[in-house]
Amino acid sequence: MTGSLDTACGAKLRIAILGCTGSIGVQALDVCRQHADRLEVVALSAHSRVRELVDAAREFGVDRIAVTDPAHAHDPALADLADGTQVLVGEHAAVELCQADDVDCVLVAIVGAAGLAASAAVLETDKRLALANKESLVVGGDLLMPRVRPGQLIPVDSEHSAIFQCYRGEKADQAHAIWLTCSGGPFYGWTRDQLSRVTPSDALAHPTWNMGAKITIDSATLMNKGLERIEAMHLFGVDMEFIRVVIQRQSKIHSMVEYEDGSVIAHLGASDMRIPIQYAFSYPDRWSTPAPRVDFRTLGSLDFGEPDADTFRCLALAEDAGRVRGTLPCVLNAANEVAVAAFLAGTCSFTDIDAVVETCMDDHDVQPVQSLEQLADIDAWARRRAAEAIAARS
Ligand code: NDP
Ligand code: MG
Repeated sequence: MTGSLDTACGAKLRIAILGCTGSIGVQALDVCRQHADRLEVVALSAHSRVRELVDAAREFGVDRIAVTDPAHAHDPALADLADGTQVLVGEHAAVELCQADDVDCVLVAIVGAAGLAASAAVLETDKRLALANKESLVVGGDLLMPRVRPGQLIPVDSEHSAIFQCYRGEKADQAHAIWLTCSGGPFYGWTRDQLSRVTPSDALAHPTWNMGAKITIDSATLMNKGLERIEAMHLFGVDMEFIRVVIQRQSKIHSMVEYEDGSVIAHLGASDMRIPIQYAFSYPDRWSTPAPRVDFRTLGSLDFGEPDADTFRCLALAEDAGRVRGTLPCVLNAANEVAVAAFLAGTCSFTDIDAVVETCMDDHDVQPVQSLEQLADIDAWARRRAAEAIAARS
């Protein structure tokens, strides 16, 4: 496969959206709505928001859905599904949706390590993987990347979509560095002492992107940028040192690739996730924009700065995990998921997040990545260890 999907001439691209009720999922549905002549939604999954799942299934005429949280298997909203709609239930249901013959492209927009099994399942087929779930690569990049066929995996994360596009038509071995842009989050320039008093509602107010709760907190701690560096390391087959984080407060430069001759190719555009989502569907083509265009005459300035990894410790911890590799990024990610959930629930402070992650990383004996089962065991260990560390701090 060279990149174009093998759909019949003029046929619509048949899409499965896993995590259709989240921020990315809802924006993906909007892209499908705007390009209904090219895209057909054929399967949808959600974890708990069954009402929204059912509404989307009805709007898009989808006759196969998955509810991944068994606690929601009998939600009354399911009664409103069109007759004959197939409902799969349980953790494995999203994987089943990916493998159906009538799906050409799977958007994995599940949050957290829970997305890994589905990403791996897509790569067992020749379907396209439109990957928003960065945790899949952070945790399982060593297993996933060797399975990717040329043009099969199109990143949706805005920076990685940008980098992917900056590499197009170039010789990858002539690249000198990747400049991974970072908004800096709502607490840019703050001290450690100020951070220790941050509340969930402070942290949920991101300056430029409107996202799900977990990634919004990750953006505030800069763990998101740390996870993205590991994601880029796998996607583009480079070392951590090759990827430099640069603060770009306006989130208008989505990332850059610098080449040997000093030329730097940047990707700019609106801060709207529908653009990279759509590109993952349209690649290698470009369709009309799903979002308002940027008028550069009125944009004002573009600012750049250096991240402060001493204050935003998550960035430094992710760098350690990405340098050591093996199972350490799995521990980083699982501990972070638990600590972020605890912060949102009010059982740990903002600065406890990096402390908990560091404790788990220190206590882990790193192994080479061997299998999804091994990663699931280590993920479970890290979650238990993180819960103990949180209990010990409160
Ligand atoms: P949200 O929290 O908004 O949505 C998450 C989705 O995953 C929901 O549909 C949710 O279902 C589902 N889900 C939650 N837990 C599970 C589980 N255990 N198993 C299966 N499905 C589950 O997240 P976002 O849309 O913000 O992010 C999704 C992914 O995309 C993340 O990996 C994130 O890092 C990445 N991403 C997001 C960006 C953004 O702008 N939001 C930008 C770049 C990357 P339900 O709601 O029904 O419970
Ligand atoms: Mg991103």
